[in-house]
Amino acid sequence: MTGSLAVDVVLEPHWLPFTANRAFKKAPRLLVSAKDMHYTAADGRSILDGTAGLWCVNAGHSRDSIVAAIREAAGRLDYGPAFQMSHPAAFDLAAAIVGIAPRDLDHVFFTNSGSEAVDTALKIALAYWQAKGAPERNGFVGRLRGYHGVGFGGISVGGIEANRRAFAGQLLPHIDHLPHTLDLSKNAFAHGQPASGAESADALEAIVARRGASNIAAVIVEPVAGSTGVLPPPRGYLERLRAICDRHGILLIFDEVITGFGRLGTPFAAQRFNVVPDMITFAKGVTNASVPMGGVLVRREIHDTIMDASSGGVEFFHGYTYSGHPLAAAAGIATLALYREEDIFARAQSLEPYWESAVHTLRDKPHVIDVRNLGIVAGIELQPRSGKPGARAFDVFLDCFERGVLVRAAGDTICLSPPLIAEQSHIDQIVDVLGRALADVA
Ligand code: PLP
Repeated sequence: MTGSLAVDVVLEPHWLPFTANRAFKKAPRLLVSAKDMHYTAADGRSILDGTAGLWCVNAGHSRDSIVAAIREAAGRLDYGPAFQMSHPAAFDLAAAIVGIAPRDLDHVFFTNSGSEAVDTALKIALAYWQAKGAPERNGFVGRLRGYHGVGFGGISVGGIEANRRAFAGQLLPHIDHLPHTLDLSKNAFAHGQPASGAESADALEAIVARRGASNIAAVIVEPVAGSTGVLPPPRGYLERLRAICDRHGILLIFDEVITGFGRLGTPFAAQRFNVVPDMITFAKGVTNASVPMGGVLVRREIHDTIMDASSGGVEFFHGYTYSGHPLAAAAGIATLALYREEDIFARAQSLEPYWESAVHTLRDKPHVIDVRNLGIVAGIELQPRSGKPGARAFDVFLDCFERGVLVRAAGDTICLSPPLIAEQSHIDQIVDVLGRALADVA
């Protein structure tokens, strides 16, 4: 029962993020431990993790080698200044990330979250153009339904109205948005990448014509938009976006906070789609979510241009107290080693056909108006209740939780993204429970 707590906690002081706090505190849902594919809830129930936490626990929970690495690091070097000083593990992790990144993206700037990674990437883009003597290239292009975290940069380029409303008037200037790529009239129930819609990338040409290429620093998109309900890119779309950016000398940033580290069966989405951006933002899976960390992978020419423009001293006035934190670095090194040892990315690739077939069996369940999938991600979109957007999917989330499976509601889409160590039986359970919840929820 979601309301009954076996643990003694005072609920009021904690203001939960992106949560209906008042409703939550009336019927809290607390997790007290996790191992591999399962959580244990405060009432003792085992909950199958259908979402890898928040799209981040790619190798499953509390993996021994990662836990051991964090423990060892905490007892050896708890912290050292991140500015003008560093420690070996930060370099080792940067090298390991570069080792699985697309060629040319060979420098890493560490942050503590995806939001910070996005704001860092936007700042690197501005610093790059300033270093090249083109400071007027200071506009950005995002995309509707894009989620790029919650920093002022991220919500400015992001395309979620609710995340901007309370801060309107104080966002970054010179921002344009591409249309999103979801078109249910043509692509409902597409398996994998939708066949039509690549031409929506041409909206970038219209923005360039209006604003002028020489005023645009960068375009930022999620290769597969996650948080607004799983939107795989139409076939050819990312290629087209890359070509238009190239034509106009505009930088392309892939926000791979969700797609990085195996979610699509490759280290990064860039490799799956064979489209290499100029920067990649990452977070989440880099440490298997065990210690907060994010970062930006940067193309060598961008890094070198910023270095060369400086006559000495600090080249880039940006960074965080915890950039490359020793515990996060240790967790990241152990995580990448685990991904390698268990061939997790290839595992995700081989699981994908089963995943795809399984999630598409939900198409005939009540309320379902679309099923979308790519890699080990799926979005099951529901017909909203009249005048109550999101309410039906939220009830499905609650119902699944009662039945022992964690899913995620994003608007009226149920998002699924289990850890990549999932067995077929776990997938069967997720789909079965979700199907029952859909049948039960009004
Ligand atoms: N970018 C994308 C694509 C994300 O999905 C997220 C979080 O879900 C973020 C940025 C923000 O990351 P964080 O919550 O670590 O700040």
